[in-house]
Amino acid sequence: MSHAPSEQTLDLSSLQTYAKSRGGSCLSPSFKGARAPHLWKCGLGHEFEARPQVLIEGGYWCERCQPSLDTPGAWDWGRVAQTDPAVARFHRAEDAPSSKNQETD
Ligand SMILES: [Zn+2]
Repeated sequence: MSHAPSEQTLDLSSLQTYAKSRGGSCLSPSFKGARAPHLWKCGLGHEFEARPQVLIEGGYWCERCQPSLDTPGAWDWGRVAQTDPAVARFHRAEDAPSSKNQETD
């Protein structure tokens, strides 16, 4: 077996864990390699293909939910934050636009 020293250890369960942390899921039934495209589904139901390495190491997720370099601007963080815990965490910390509710759990 060949050994890829620089590649971090990923397997299907790491992909699912990452997907879950973003409020979505990994639709690929098997792990095909950190650099092979896999099928994913975001919390808003978009299905997309992406390489696990790019997503996990780069912190990327659904390209239709993420702001793109081509079309910055119209970007509803609040909507995405409803399904993506990772976005919700900093979205909430960033600013609470008009609501000033004390969040006591
Ligand atoms: Zn999406």
